[in-house]
Formats: sequence, structure tokens, C-alpha cells
Amino acid sequence: MAGDYSNYLTHLECGLSGERHEAGRVHGLSRAGKPLLARYDMAAMRRGADRDAIWARTGGFWKWRELLPVKETKNVCALGEVDTPLIALDNLHDAGTVIVKDEGRLPTGSFKARGLALAVAMASELGLDHLAMPTNGNAGSALAAYASRVGMKTTIVCPDDTPAINIEETQLQGAKVYKANGLINACGAWVKAGADKGKWFDLSTLKEPYRIEGKKTMGLELAAQMGWTLPDVIFYPTGGGTGLIGMWKAFAELIELGWMESTKLPRMVAVQASGCAPIVRAFDAGERFADPWQDAHTVAAGIRVPAAIGDFLILDAVRDSGGFAIAVDDAAIEEARMRVAGEEGLLLCPEGAATYAAYLAARRKNLISKDERAVLFNCATGLKYPMPEAGEALDLGAA
Ligand SMILES: *Cc1c(COP(=O)(O)O)cnc(C)c1O
Repeated sequence: MAGDYSNYLTHLECGLSGERHEAGRVHGLSRAGKPLLARYDMAAMRRGADRDAIWARTGGFWKWRELLPVKETKNVCALGEVDTPLIALDNLHDAGTVIVKDEGRLPTGSFKARGLALAVAMASELGLDHLAMPTNGNAGSALAAYASRVGMKTTIVCPDDTPAINIEETQLQGAKVYKANGLINACGAWVKAGADKGKWFDLSTLKEPYRIEGKKTMGLELAAQMGWTLPDVIFYPTGGGTGLIGMWKAFAELIELGWMESTKLPRMVAVQASGCAPIVRAFDAGERFADPWQDAHTVAAGIRVPAAIGDFLILDAVRDSGGFAIAVDDAAIEEARMRVAGEEGLLLCPEGAATYAAYLAARRKNLISKDERAVLFNCATGLKYPMPEAGEALDLGAA
């Protein structure tokens, strides 16, 4: 990456209380124990950053430097990022109404690249040298890859039923990997204990402020790709909710910058699996915080998050947008994955397939109409996940 980029980061703000925290030093959670959000001098950004010049750059999500917290170009860690494509499911639906944003094209095959690249860049900028994280799969490999790229050490712990491919890719890309006999939250407690002893810095979802800034670029990119407008509704597979929170923040910043051709915001839909749906339960009950889910299980490992520290930020965004939260079961997820692969030639990950299953369920329940333009997030390449056995035996020796 070449060029000079202005930086507009001013401070960090507690997502719950709004309490101000200083930029330029290492932060985990806010003093209230909640996620911190990066804040910028928006008036200066409005004067100094040029929408069309930024969008004309190459470099994938790194093109948004003026809207991101990284100050020094030497801390940018790049592995060939691209803008991810929008692919309309035109065989299954009226042209242009159901569109998949395919995040599986990013380095390490998932959108975790966006968040972890930013987190690693900021960790370099702040002088950290050993990062640790619990993961259900994709976050671990993205952290390992970007950290190795900048010569930083990583320790990753995942539940022992995490798909082998995620464990293997993570280790191969330079991390020390542990397989633990517990769910993601128990793994998180172990990482926190190590961080408290000073062994490493805890990079768990939303426990540091910058992953969300990386995920924010999904919203920036989507707006630019749609001609600085937004779809009517967004279906997001929600685990920790970083992407949903990040996109909602992106839309607010774009409007504040005056960059949008239309200021109509999409309805945000949090999609979960019925075997792990704490956000859906809290949404239905009218709660602002979600109780932890017991005995979480689903084929969609990326959204198997029993307790999300940013629960209130997810629920606030969903409610403020006029959206909703919806759960789909594993059978519906697998059916949706088969349909989109077979009829559109697009192999979704199970979490992405969950958004299509949720779209169909929402249409059946009249929560959305067929004319509404929907964007579904496929957050990882389908190639990383188990597939049904296939191939019929053929005897080449038979007459
Ligand atoms: C992590 C992950 C999710 C959930 O993302 P959050 O922003 O943490 O809610 C969804 N799908 C896949 C494939 C993931 O890896």
C-alpha cells in the first residue's frame, strides 16, 4: 500500500454508557465492562476524505483507511483483500430481489479477515506482540494468518468439536492451537485468565475495539456497490454480532459524512440457529440483554455463540432499524444450502445458508414482502465445511 492517509480517530466510547476512553493506548472492554466503539472527527473527515477517490482505490477493505483507526501505513497487514461480489439468486427469485454478498472470497476464506486484519494492525500499532483468542473456527485462522504476516505470536483455543479444517489451517498459518473440552464461552474464560496473568492480549469478539471497525467495512462496501444506497433488508448470521453492529455503525457514519444518495436504512435481521438463539429469545421477550443459551448446538458453528457481550448493541440495532430476529433449524439450513448450490451454482457455508432459510421463513410469515430487496451475508466459503457424500460408482470395465 502506498500513499498518505489522514487519520481522524479521536477517542473510544463505551457502547453502553458513552463514557470516553483515550485513543492511542491498549484497551479491552470499557470501564463498565462493555464493548468500546471507535469515534472519529467526522467534520474533519467530511472535509478531508473523498468518497469517489476512496471507492476507486484497489486493496479491498484497506481502501477505507480514512474511515479506519490505523494511523501508520507500516502497520497495515495485507494478504490480497478484494471487494466481495454481490450475486443475485435470479434462478430462485425475481431478478435482483435476493442478493448474496459472498464474503468467502476474502483471505482465509471468511469475513473474519476484515475484523482480524484491523485488530492485528492496531495491535502492532499499540506495540502488542502476543495475541490470543477463543474461536469456533474462522476467526482463529484469520487471526493466525494476519498475525504471522506481521510476525506476531498467536495462541488460539477452540472447542474440541471444531471442524478439523479450521484447526489445521490455523496451526499451519502459525498459531499455537489448543482443542478444549468446552464451548466457546469456556474457551474465552481460559483466554481471559491467561490475559489477566499477562501472558497475552485477549482478542475475543468485541473485547477489543477494532475488530468491529474491520467488520464495518462490509457496510461501507455494500453501500458503495449499491450506488450509495442500501437494500430494504439485510439478513445477517449472528454469533457475536460484530458484523451487524459494525454495519449499523458504518451506515450512521456514511450518513453523517453526507455520502449516501438515499438515507433510507435497511431493516436489520439477526439470523440464528434454533439450537442456539439467545438474541432471538431476547428480541421476542422485549429484553435489551440476552440470557446465555444452554446446550448450544447447530451445524452452523460460526453462529454457535451462547452469550454475546455485544447483545444490547445487536438488539438496539435490530430494533432501531425496524428489523427482527429469527431462528432456523439445522434441517432448514441444510435444505437451503442444497437449493442454492444446486440451482444457483453458489456453495454457501451453513451460516450463509441460514440467512437464506431465514429469508424464506420471513417471506412465509409475511415479515417481508417479495418486492423488498434483500441482501444475505454468506460469511465464509462453503468449501471449508462438510458436504454430503457424493458420486455414483461407475465400472469402467463393464460392457
Ligand atoms: C463468525 C462467523 C459468523 C458470525 O459473525 P459475528 O459477526 O461474530 O456474529 C457467521 N458466519 C461465519 C461463517 C462466521 O465465521
